[in-house]
Amino acid sequence: MNIILLGPPGAGKGTQAKLLEERHGLKQLSTGEMLRAAVAAGTETGRKAKAVMDRGELVSDAIVVGIIADRLDAADVKKGFILDGFPRNTAQAEALDRMLVGKGLKLDAVIEMKVDDEALVERITGRYTCAKCGKGYHDKFEAPKVAGVCDVCGSTEFTRRADDNEKTVRDRLDIYNKQTAPLIAHYGSRGRLKTIDGMAEIGDVTRQIEQVLNAF
Ligand code: ADP
Ligand code: AMP
Repeated sequence: MNIILLGPPGAGKGTQAKLLEERHGLKQLSTGEMLRAAVAAGTETGRKAKAVMDRGELVSDAIVVGIIADRLDAADVKKGFILDGFPRNTAQAEALDRMLVGKGLKLDAVIEMKVDDEALVERITGRYTCAKCGKGYHDKFEAPKVAGVCDVCGSTEFTRRADDNEKTVRDRLDIYNKQTAPLIAHYGSRGRLKTIDGMAEIGDVTRQIEQVLNAF
């Protein structure tokens, strides 16, 4: 099964993609995570992307389309993939449409996660991750069971993203509304779109997504 999680920054795409990876053996393909890894590794792509990402703007289509094209050829996506953070504009969606045809792959569903803007700002400004295993947390909504200790790997080191500040978040939401939201119509007209309530608590959002997946 191949799906896209479509939603604004902070909607819960990464949180849900990781839960679906565990439960369904699907592979999360997050362009944001891949770009942050490139920045951390100091690759040429990372050097090109860093300042753009810090401003909350979109990295060039050529870079992200190239990253996804390579990933879709790998063996670990054969059981299915979850695109998280890609596509983010019409040009990327059209490139993906062509790429899937070329590779003989099919998109089963595009799941739109709807969340109010004020809730997004609160989610993003409270977001942090384990520095060792990458497990995501939130100051208010998803704290570790033991304060300061990662539930998954026991690490006591956590990081916050440079772009998760209130100013950049507002710019990212603006870009989402202008450039990414038109994809709702792009996939709606192809009969692939399912919309769920992303305002619900994490477990309930998972149940809504699983209801969509169970239809296949
Ligand atoms: P995205 O990948 O869409 O940018 P994340 O999955 O990283 O969003 O979620 C943003 C933050 O909100 C994280 O800190 C996460 O723990 C928290 N979060 C995710 N889903 C929910 C939810 N349904 N309710 C409350 N907080 C949530
Ligand atoms: P995310 O982790 O999805 O919130 O993405 C973090 C940042 O990476 C974004 O604000 C962009 O700068 C960049 N990015 C991630 N995915 C894309 C994409 N599909 N197109 C362009 N830029 C992207």
